[in-house]
Amino acid sequence: MPGFVDTPEPVQVPGLVHLHTGKVRELYRDADGNLVMVASDRISAYDWVLPTDIPDKGRVLTRLSLWWFDQLADLVPHHVISTDLPAGAPAEWEGRTMVCRALDMVPVEAVARGYLTGSGLREYTEHRTVCGLALPEGLVDGSELPAPIFTPATKAAVGEHDENVAYEEVARQVGAETAARLRQTTLAVYGRARDIAKERGLILADTKFEFGYVAGADDHDLVIADEVLTPDSSRYWPADRWEPGHAQPSFDKQFIRDWLTSPASGWDHTGDTPPPSLPAEVVEHSRARYIEVYERLTGTPWT
Ligand code: ATP
Ligand code: MG
Repeated sequence: MPGFVDTPEPVQVPGLVHLHTGKVRELYRDADGNLVMVASDRISAYDWVLPTDIPDKGRVLTRLSLWWFDQLADLVPHHVISTDLPAGAPAEWEGRTMVCRALDMVPVEAVARGYLTGSGLREYTEHRTVCGLALPEGLVDGSELPAPIFTPATKAAVGEHDENVAYEEVARQVGAETAARLRQTTLAVYGRARDIAKERGLILADTKFEFGYVAGADDHDLVIADEVLTPDSSRYWPADRWEPGHAQPSFDKQFIRDWLTSPASGWDHTGDTPPPSLPAEVVEHSRARYIEVYERLTGTPWT
């Protein structure tokens, strides 16, 4: 089964309880009950966490997520409390750590799509729908949809793919009111982000959000959680190379995918053999692409 080539050993920090090792992030709980999210430089492709890190990826994605939380602040409150390092944390965590309010998470991957590709394209090809929503005839891989759509998925168990579900199913699971809020907020945030990205020459094809509620609060405002609008949670395409009808070059991982499927890697991505280490030039190219997304979106040089 795909997964980690080398399962990482989480750093132990006194006062922090290690909760979870994700493909890319490590999760801890601090003494105040807050969540400490540490983004690593790990990268995944074809369901594998590759054995080679991309230097600075964790910092780039953390800074990008924080920048986006700021851009969205008038639309939805976010979960970040602080980016100060917890006492006793290693200096390498600097810049890739977010201390977040622990929320009661809504167990739905809130996906918005403005363009057709990936699992949306697969369902469309079979049924002319995405998450049960009827779409017009004649759309192809990379087509812009008539309007952005909310295409929720249920979080899958480890090793499984998230499953697209109909809106009615989400409403059954989390209640009609929460489902309606999820959809409304997801589409509002997607619309804002898509417009900002467009101005910077990037197409935000689709993206995934996670939301939660503040435990015990009497107001029932959704809070946006996890990471947002990073290349790990979103598909960004260079707008000047957008050409519906085939797979679009993705901004970040395309170079790595191309190398992994080339004869140079000698690897079969459809088999059970773990992927090989990445050559230095692939790592450097990939690092440069992450930095480019950051710089383009924020308009700030990476330093
Ligand atoms: P993958 O690596 O494939 O994404 P994963 O989702 O299990 O797997 P992470 O994304 O690293 O791994 O885990 C982050 C977890 O933290 C998710 O389960 C997410 O729902 C949860 N989470 C994010 N923000 C909050 C929050 N503010 N309160 C509680 N849980 C949160
Ligand atoms: Mg996750």
